[in-house]
Amino acid sequence: RFITVEGGDGAGKSTVIARLCDELRARGRDVILTREPGGIEIAEKIRSIILDPEHVTMDKRTEALLYAAARRQHLVEKVLPALAAGKLVLCDRFIDSSLAYQGYARGLGIDEVFAINRFAVEDCMPDLTLFFDVRPEVGLARINATKGREVNRLDMEDLRFHEKVREGYRLVMERFPERFVVIDAEQPMERVFEEALAALEARL
Ligand code: C5P
Repeated sequence: RFITVEGGDGAGKSTVIARLCDELRARGRDVILTREPGGIEIAEKIRSIILDPEHVTMDKRTEALLYAAARRQHLVEKVLPALAAGKLVLCDRFIDSSLAYQGYARGLGIDEVFAINRFAVEDCMPDLTLFFDVRPEVGLARINATKGREVNRLDMEDLRFHEKVREGYRLVMERFPERFVVIDAEQPMERVFEEALAALEARL
């Protein structure tokens, strides 16, 4: 099974997904935890190009293509082999991030960005996607309170951009209602974790 976790910045995805992985392993499931953009060497290198705060001139189509390229390599090198071996793959971000961030918030168009991503993933889509919903002002406040977080090019975006990301996710969820579960990520992390775990166990 291929499970993805999505959400805006500061939704707490990476913290909760790490706990989910530990808990599922403790329950005897064969799980791998990975992330996008990244997860393997080539894709981590592409990630550092995309997110480099010095790359202020990066064009938004270039950005979208780089995300799709990182996605392709990560899928082929890591996700597909793990799925073929019968593992459960937990992935922090996947195609929906591109649809919400590049397609909607950056204004490239959800359909256009979906088209380049279909080229990248062929027909491999997640079986289940947990969407961690948080108002951007709450998410950004959490990020500002987190010490040692990597600085990235997205730090230059304003609240309005992050509101558009959230709207973008809404549109993406309307398009794929069958695979999405929405989790209220403004709750305490413990509750978010419990709800996410329950949603996973119900579908596994
Ligand atoms: O989820 P993570 O914090 O690793 O994402 C790194 C940064 O890349 C975040 O600021 C996120 O908003 C941004 N991002 C993006 N477009 C994507 C995926 C991530 O702008 N498709």
